[in-house]
Amino acid sequence: MPVSQYDSIIVGAGLNGLAAGVVLAKAGWKVLMFESQSEPGGAVRTAEVTLPGFRHDLYATNLNGFATSQLFHDFGADLRRLGLEFVRASNAFCSVFPDGDMVGVTTDLEETISEVRRLSAADAEAWRALTERFRRMADYVFPVMRQPMPSWGTLRTLLRGTRALGTRWPIGLFALLMTSQREFVTRHFRHPKIAALWAAWGMHLDFAPEVRGGGLYGFIQCMSAQANGLHFGKGGASVVVDALARLYCELGGELRCSSPVAEIVVENGRAVGVKLSGGELIAARHGVIANTTPTVLFGKLIKAGVSRRLARKAQRYRYGPGTMMIHLALSQLPQWRNSRAASFAYVHVAPSLEIMSRAYDDASHGRLPAEPVLIVAQPTLFNASRAPHSRHVLSIQVRVLPSRLDWDTVKEEYADRLLALLERYAPGVRQQIVGRCVLSPVDLERANPNLVGGDNLSGSHHLAQQFIFRPFLGWSRYRTPVRGLYICGASTWPGAGVTAASGYLLANLLTQTADQPPSTGMSTPVT
Ligand SMILES: Cc1cc2nc3c(=O)[nH]c(=O)nc-3n(C[C@H](O)[C@H](O)[C@H](O)COP(=O)(O)OP(=O)(O)OC[C@H]3O[C@@H](n4cnc5c(N)ncnc54)[C@H](O)[C@@H]3O)c2cc1C
Repeated sequence: MPVSQYDSIIVGAGLNGLAAGVVLAKAGWKVLMFESQSEPGGAVRTAEVTLPGFRHDLYATNLNGFATSQLFHDFGADLRRLGLEFVRASNAFCSVFPDGDMVGVTTDLEETISEVRRLSAADAEAWRALTERFRRMADYVFPVMRQPMPSWGTLRTLLRGTRALGTRWPIGLFALLMTSQREFVTRHFRHPKIAALWAAWGMHLDFAPEVRGGGLYGFIQCMSAQANGLHFGKGGASVVVDALARLYCELGGELRCSSPVAEIVVENGRAVGVKLSGGELIAARHGVIANTTPTVLFGKLIKAGVSRRLARKAQRYRYGPGTMMIHLALSQLPQWRNSRAASFAYVHVAPSLEIMSRAYDDASHGRLPAEPVLIVAQPTLFNASRAPHSRHVLSIQVRVLPSRLDWDTVKEEYADRLLALLERYAPGVRQQIVGRCVLSPVDLERANPNLVGGDNLSGSHHLAQQFIFRPFLGWSRYRTPVRGLYICGASTWPGAGVTAASGYLLANLLTQTADQPPSTGMSTPVT
């Protein structure tokens, strides 16, 4: 290995790689980051993939996780200075139903309650009580997700919560964690449409109605969207990435795009640097951070220097089902059967728990679901400049699908079937399409090796692979068994989403525990 010029090398400029880079560079570390793609961002990217002037969020679009992140809290002023702007939709989400009905959730609680009361007075009271429960516990649940797992900070937060809310609170939280969405919604709601409205959020992750853990995740997702509305990036989600990349470079970090790392070099049990596809070797004094999943890290990037047992263990990391993205350029907004749906950021086509369960079961058994969940995002409703005058972009995230299938052969025909399904809720939508781009699960993985089998979460979030078990017991604080080799990203605590939390937490752990001081001040601290 040549003499090291860098304190740390980061493989992958996804949101977490960038977050780690910003925190390390701010602390004065000399950091070099490699990205295979021509642009940073990974699963956060905006591009004109249908027609010129139509800006589609190819993958993530809901930026609530970033807007409420610790990284944004710490660096928000700089990120705004460097171009980050959000557009907040207060009409957050709704569900549409085959009989033409719809139920919507906005940031105005009374508006939502009266919407729910239209279907069931008892459910309206239950909704109010759950909102109140969320308000009480938010101060003690979200901080846990912003701290390393496990950590004294986590424990202190839970103890604080117990002191404030009583000893029944942690027991209730544990019970919620052990609950499936079906158990949760059956306990709280009587009307099947309200149950479906709530449970659709579990399908954003891999929580089919019957899967344990869905109770907590559905609760957090649904109530956060109600509390915060939905944040889009102004101009597209990549404004987040662009601002982060600029800040990182401004702080002295180096970013090389179109530069895939071929190998992470391990010598004497320690990660010492990387090898690029052209053969160039670059050393890192303090170690290498991989913004990849464990199977990518130990299956593709580490070719020697670790035991077979460790390599085999990494392959046991489990992925969830696949996702498809259908991006549409439209001549006008969809004419929803229920016109009120036209004012919501997300429209869920997920009309019953049975349909969600069947979709999950089909996908898990390699069958194409006849009625998967469609998460329809309408960003131009809130940010018209993302499409030419009076035109619109629409994205449909399809949940959930088989990972392994001859997707190149079936994807367009399957997308046609899904648009026919959408047409039942938005008649005439197919006539309004002026351009389309379909990304199958295989396309997702081709664009980003972390999206294995098109799993948009980079690994299942079922309880056996979450909290201290993400990605494996003993790795949740981002250290791997190889010295100097760290892992961050969606496959690590706290999991998928645009929170940038794992990169942020890892970098803070590194700067707090560095056994050697970083090289001298290459960066220009931003105040
Ligand atoms: C279709 C889809 C929709 C989503 N929607 C939402 C949403 O609306 N809201 C939300 O909160 N979350 C959403 N998510 C999840 C969220 O986008 C991701 O969890 C998050 O962006 C993952 O970030 P990451 O840091 O793990 O890195 P990734 O995005 O996985 O990026 C890793 C980067 O590393 C690069 N890389 C990998 N190997 C190498 C190598 N050898 N050399 C160099 N570079 C390499 C890759 O090219 C990639 O750019 C969605 C995800 C997908 C796929």
